[in-house]
Amino acid sequence: MGPPGAGKGTQAKDLSARLGVPHISSGDIFRGEMAVGTELGEQLKKFVNAGQLVPDDLTTRIVVKRLGQADCSKGFLLDGFPRTLEQARSLDAEMLQDGGKIDTVLYLDVTPDLIAQRMAGRRMCKKCGASYHTVTLKPKTEGACDRCGGELYHRDDDRPETVKDRLRVYAEKTAPLIGYYDQQGLLRRVAADGTPAEVQARTFPLLGL
Ligand code: ADP
Ligand code: ZN
Repeated sequence: MGPPGAGKGTQAKDLSARLGVPHISSGDIFRGEMAVGTELGEQLKKFVNAGQLVPDDLTTRIVVKRLGQADCSKGFLLDGFPRTLEQARSLDAEMLQDGGKIDTVLYLDVTPDLIAQRMAGRRMCKKCGASYHTVTLKPKTEGACDRCGGELYHRDDDRPETVKDRLRVYAEKTAPLIGYYDQQGLLRRVAADGTPAEVQARTFPLLGL
């Protein structure tokens, strides 16, 4: 977990590959639905493009369904979910039913100034969801993804006005999860300033990697 722009997606991609478990990003799942233009996608757009959270019941249903697929049976890395206390409680209940548990919660800690700077320059791959930055993390070929060649774009919800709303929602709804997981002894804090490689070098040892 961590505020928008903390680098969750970037870190999660490398970490899940290293752990050999799927990277389950609620944001990526939602963007996939929105790109295809399904009825569900249209419903999601209203919330996502306004910087609002998708309602808990809808979010939980979509993510839990994904966790039920075969590739998640040996574990998974969640990114962007849970984002509210209610989602966290639903996840706990679901996992308990399956005899599973959360091993670790990584909290990527960054300052608001750095967030604004990162989101303004953020570019995302349309195909695979990889993140780039126009100044700090340029792709090898301008406008194209290093991993898959997909087209890079600036997310609608990364506009400065919307970023402000997302940060407000984060402070109100998501930040309380820090205490929730800290109390359970699961929380590991990572200073998330610096390059992705630097953040990764701080993260892997926390997981014994
Ligand atoms: P970031 O991590 O940069 O904020 P995400 O890709 O994780 O972006 O999420 C993009 C948007 O998708 C969020 O602003 C929100 O509207 C919606 N969303 C993603 N995950 C959740 C969630 N767990 N609960 C509610 N809404 C969510
Ligand atoms: Zn790509």
